[in-house]
Amino acid sequence: MTKINKNTQLVTAGRNKAYTQGVVNPVIQRASTVVFDSVAELKEAAKKRGESTLFYGRRGTTTHFALQEAITELEGGAGCALYPCGAAAISQTLLSFLKSGDHILMVDSVYEPTRDFCDKILAGLGITTTYYPPMISTDIKEYIQDNTKMLFLESPGSITMEIQDVPAMVQVANEHNVMTVLDNTYGNGLHYRPLEHGVDISIQAATKYIVGHSDVMMGVAVANKKYWSTLREHSYLLGQCTSADDAYLALRGLRTMAVRLKQHQQGALEVATWLAAHPLVDHVRHPAFASCPGHEVFKRDFDGSNGLFSFVMKTGNQKAIDAFLDSLQHFKMGFSWGGYESLVTANLTMKGLRSATGWSQGPVIRLHIGLEDVADLLADLEQALGVYQQHL
Ligand SMILES: *Cc1c(COP(=O)(O)O)cnc(C)c1O
Repeated sequence: MTKINKNTQLVTAGRNKAYTQGVVNPVIQRASTVVFDSVAELKEAAKKRGESTLFYGRRGTTTHFALQEAITELEGGAGCALYPCGAAAISQTLLSFLKSGDHILMVDSVYEPTRDFCDKILAGLGITTTYYPPMISTDIKEYIQDNTKMLFLESPGSITMEIQDVPAMVQVANEHNVMTVLDNTYGNGLHYRPLEHGVDISIQAATKYIVGHSDVMMGVAVANKKYWSTLREHSYLLGQCTSADDAYLALRGLRTMAVRLKQHQQGALEVATWLAAHPLVDHVRHPAFASCPGHEVFKRDFDGSNGLFSFVMKTGNQKAIDAFLDSLQHFKMGFSWGGYESLVTANLTMKGLRSATGWSQGPVIRLHIGLEDVADLLADLEQALGVYQQHL
């Protein structure tokens, strides 16, 4: 078949008749036990376990297989493991490959729970972590030790949005026999496919744009050929599985992801443009803006942006931030993103979130632009920034 384009792929991927039984969507197949009628049948299933065949509920059912195949195709890997949330996808991928005595290089702008996992869990297992500046590029080689097993990237970084030069860093990692894992929650598989840039494993919090409606927790990890069988088997041994209902909803979200992303992207570009011109704002950290560190890499490697970005205030204090947050009507405070609704979080100092780079700029406010009318969001931000100013 001729190579199909990404929007088409979102519609067709994983739609195997064995999973759908002839309708459009897969059957929701809930199961713990799979039953076999003969020893021969059982043996055949055992031989194929982990390969989209029924064996035992924890190995997944046809609903899971449909989602796994769709995401594998989207990200361009050898297979996709499912986890009960994004944090589990990250922690279990790390536990699948790291052992006592190993060293991991972790990007300093990483999602906070990933940092906590390294500091509180990996450290106790005798696995050491070094945080590196996100914009380091090929100088990452200075950080590689004899026992470095894994380079972990997240691009753009959480909150401060630095875009990493992934191909350059992967090349250095490969030269030193270091495996690479990237948190691709922002890139979502449609706008960025890490495996095409040489990364070994791409992880997403499907909770965000894949699910898209703030009603399911789900994590996915797509591995290349070299790492897929170990990731699959070790995640299975670590007990990772998800419900068929959640897998169904994630796949349903995936079908409309492209059209949602288009609207999120358009709204966020308009809001970021407006904020960049606001007298209280120092600069916006939106990957599509030159003021965002790594913008040139974003232009080179990404196919689009989405609803998530931050902006840095010229000055501020906790009172002004709290009053700003309390006065917003359409932006609710919330730690997730990727759903249809607008969200806001704010950090005065980034304390505890950066150790290799520090933060000496103004307060950082992060927005997720939902599917509301932009005019309503701008009016809301305008009045709330007025309240912010009153407290300076
Ligand atoms: C939300 C998020 C996660 C964690 O996903 P959960 O499903 O909430 O566990 C991981 N990485 C990034 C970048 C995220 O934004």
